[in-house]
Amino acid sequence: MTTYVAGIDVGGTSVKLGLFTILGERIEVWNIPTDLSDTGVHIPQQVAESIYEKIDTLELDKEKFIGAGVGVPGFVRPADGVVKFAVNIKWRDYPAATAFNQALDRPVFVNNDANLATAGEVWRGAGKGAENAVCITLGTGVGAGLVVHGDILSGKAGTAGEFGHVNVVPGGRKCECGGYGCLESYASATGLVGVATEQLHEHKESSLHQIDTISAADIYHAADHGDQFAQKLIDDAGYYLGYAIANMATVLNPEKIIIGGGMSAAGDTLLQPVRKAFEQFVLPEAGASAEIAFAELGNEAGVNGGSWLAVKRLDRLPADQIE
Ligand SMILES: [Zn+2]
Repeated sequence: MTTYVAGIDVGGTSVKLGLFTILGERIEVWNIPTDLSDTGVHIPQQVAESIYEKIDTLELDKEKFIGAGVGVPGFVRPADGVVKFAVNIKWRDYPAATAFNQALDRPVFVNNDANLATAGEVWRGAGKGAENAVCITLGTGVGAGLVVHGDILSGKAGTAGEFGHVNVVPGGRKCECGGYGCLESYASATGLVGVATEQLHEHKESSLHQIDTISAADIYHAADHGDQFAQKLIDDAGYYLGYAIANMATVLNPEKIIIGGGMSAAGDTLLQPVRKAFEQFVLPEAGASAEIAFAELGNEAGVNGGSWLAVKRLDRLPADQIE
């Protein structure tokens, strides 16, 4: 059989694991619960055991397993795979690449999970074949991954793509990061619900009054059933999102702008105001060459991207191999 790699997507609740051939064929994807005991130090060993068990079960040739890529929700220094900070899995200044390398006995490369989800979409999903692409994840927060010239853009400290903290309203709503007016405070699920809660008392007619604890899904549902206040909330979120995406596209000139995450389930209800603001603010030449599309790989994007990372970095051996 063909040589293969593992993609590992570490989350606070579960670790998603995938085996892919170096040509990008999916062999198997599965989950294990994350072992958070002792500040998460057992995760690499736990992951390695699960991977080798799967390799045995599938009767794959162990010799043809050549490496792995790991996605982590936090700040990662890609050069040495040290996780500066990943709050959900309690890692701080944690040498993840070294730990996974020892556990798996294979070269391991580590990057931020949003970057790897983007790389996954570019490898096998909505951005297939794109040299320059942006993937925006809309969920509890807002994140983004950037692929530039066919590789991940991480930045010096690994913080490139912190799209949720782009400022869209100077002096606006307070954000978790300490700033005021970040995109995330308006366009994430949390932000949308926050704005709704603040403004609801001004809209006595809204059907949202009948709900005890409003969720983003409730707001989309109400809008789809003709609630004008709910529709305005979504239009405003879409406006800020489209505005921020336009500015990013003007700078980066991507060919694909991929939108994923839980909020993307809202579909056209959200995409319409996003497109409208995007076209209003983007540099026309940059806008004309960019296609906005929904993500295709769902929650498998991360393991796809992890596998891509291993394949990509191993091609460059030995210079880029992490010791
Ligand atoms: Zn912020």
